Amino acid sequence: MLKMLDPEEDFSEEVKRFVACSLIYNGIFYAPGDLDFAQWYLRRPYYECKECGNVEDLLFEHDGICDGCQKEYFSSITGKVKEGAKKTTEIKYRHDEGPVRKKFQAVATKWDSFYPDDDDPVDVQVCRIAAALEYKAVKDAQFLEQKGALDL
Ligand SMILES: [Zn+2]
Repeated sequence: MLKMLDPEEDFSEEVKRFVACSLIYNGIFYAPGDLDFAQWYLRRPYYECKECGNVEDLLFEHDGICDGCQKEYFSSITGKVKEGAKKTTEIKYRHDEGPVRKKFQAVATKWDSFYPDDDDPVDVQVCRIAAALEYKAVKDAQFLEQKGALDL
């Protein structure tokens, strides 16, 4: 709804994390369209230090210093590359939304001919996303009606 009032307005980190948590709670790891801002969190980024083997999630602000050995590491995500820092880590992701994204985009324009396999986790996620988008469309329509009635 915030985007409907002001498309340029951005969400706070807390809101982005909350939306991502809500999607994960419902077994959704791909956030298309207006929810794209949550995709970074849905991927569950982490690093694995090549110096000490420390593995840390990167969901919160990070300073480019390994929490295990305190050595600075190269981070292409933060842009906080310090001079002399080694490239001791690479950002990795626990969830790859690629298969779900691909399937969702393939069937998004032809729902009538999509017969999901209940045993296929990709199909299950595609159906959950479709249901969420359908619910969002209903709520968006209600919001626009109320907004018009209040002359906002
Ligand atoms: Zn380390």
